[in-house]
Amino acid sequence: MYNCSKCPGFCCSYPVIAINKRDVERLARYHEVSFDTAVKRFTKRAHGHKYLLRRKADPHFGKICRFFDTEARRCTIYKARPSTCRSYPGPGRCGYYDFLSFERRAQNDPERVAVTDHSEN
Ligand code: SF4
Ligand code: SF4
Repeated sequence: MYNCSKCPGFCCSYPVIAINKRDVERLARYHEVSFDTAVKRFTKRAHGHKYLLRRKADPHFGKICRFFDTEARRCTIYKARPSTCRSYPGPGRCGYYDFLSFERRAQNDPERVAVTDHSEN
């Protein structure tokens, strides 16, 4: 239904990716830093959430998760990724991948990256 390995990582560019305390603990363990350091380094408090993943610049989507490799287009902390990332998009379809597949077929361009910039959000 979708193939993340053929996708430029649109879901990792969502402006609001909220994680929980256990996710922060996992990130802290993975990076061998204290919980407080992980909070400061990897998260920010915004949009009513205590822990949002920090972001960085991305050539395709404007901004993307700080843990995303913008060259290889993949997560750099896959084993330690937060629960939200583990469960997304669930067992059904991925709407973005449907859109991307349609664009790639329509443009006859299997490498096409359908650009949706929501960096202002
Ligand atoms: S947007 Fe969909 S296909 Fe792309 S990486 Fe995320 S879940 Fe996978
Ligand atoms: S932690 Fe990994 S899977 Fe989750 S949003 Fe960031 S780059 Fe994507």
